[in-house]
Amino acid sequence: MTGIDDLPVRDELRGKSPYGAPQLDVPVRLNTNENPYPLPEPLVERIAERVREAARNLNRYPDRDAVELRTQLARYLTDTSGYEVGLANVWAANGSNEVIQQLLQTFGGPGRTAIGFEPSYSMHGLISRGTGTGWISGPRNEDFTIDLAAAEKAIAEHRPDVVFITTPNNPTGTAVPPETVLALYEAAQAAKPSMVVVDEAYIEFSHGDSLLPLLEGRPNLVVSRTMSKAFGAAGLRLGYLAAHPAVVDAVQLVRLPYHLSAVTQATALAALEHTDTLLKYVEQLKAERDRLVSELLALGYDVTASDANFVQFGRFDDAHAVWQKILDRGVLVRDNGVPGWLRVTAGTPEENDAFLDAVRELKKEQS
Ligand code: PMP
Repeated sequence: MTGIDDLPVRDELRGKSPYGAPQLDVPVRLNTNENPYPLPEPLVERIAERVREAARNLNRYPDRDAVELRTQLARYLTDTSGYEVGLANVWAANGSNEVIQQLLQTFGGPGRTAIGFEPSYSMHGLISRGTGTGWISGPRNEDFTIDLAAAEKAIAEHRPDVVFITTPNNPTGTAVPPETVLALYEAAQAAKPSMVVVDEAYIEFSHGDSLLPLLEGRPNLVVSRTMSKAFGAAGLRLGYLAAHPAVVDAVQLVRLPYHLSAVTQATALAALEHTDTLLKYVEQLKAERDRLVSELLALGYDVTASDANFVQFGRFDDAHAVWQKILDRGVLVRDNGVPGWLRVTAGTPEENDAFLDAVRELKKEQS
């Protein structure tokens, strides 16, 4: 039997595993930070209409520059942040994972490095590896906030080409204050200069504001976003970034021609027409997230303060064994490999009740 190692794969890929959140068929799935609410029926109808229109032209390549979509994404960002961005500031791709990949292809690559402050979103490191970019694991404090002094020191020492700051952070839920982002931006410019990518995949769930206004006068700053979480459209695969127009020009050097299909563009445009309805679910999910935090605390668990649609809870001597026990009760949460901690995504009130019942039973078993 031929295996991966029998093929002439790149040395740095040997012995590695692909990204792999388990996709198990269990009644309650609270493991991948998805939005639990299906798209509302009027939006489903509108998507069908827009896709039908697009289908009539599928013999042609799609709009390579996705002008209408980027214009509407810019409008959404401006409306929700009060900071004006336009078409020239926005770029879109198949999920923010592809946005990150394009950024690393442009600003990272062989002979270059990227840094993230871990635990954080594991794909930053994995996409770095996939693009031949060296990965540096930067430190965090015990409470999962960024240790600014240590982070500045790591940047000065390693002089990375790309700095990732995830706020709110995944898997911890921790928000990064704007002063910290500014200090890291300054440190990164003094060291290299390098690109600073603020991953705001979960920003709509935050108690605080987007860092978009920090883009003013900072051409080496990028804010990346996604429709996978707040818009409830993980299956759509639509991510985007806001940055100086020169950054948008630069990523075009590496993007595949026609990377965003006409069907994707049509679907995303339909979803953006329904922004107000979709964002109503965000308020419900924030309330459910806060309920999970208070009930977990009341049960005696440790909880990391969360600004996202998920909650990190612990502490366990053997987090994986607890993950399995919760799964045995029909609820799938996530073991991100952070020693002592697990992560639960805020679902519907019923799903969250099922999760809370499961962990309540575990507490009883222990006492
Ligand atoms: N950034 C962060 C911090 C994430 O947690 C995720 C998804 N889990 C992504 C980016 C990627 O999202 P997508 O590719 O679906 O836009």
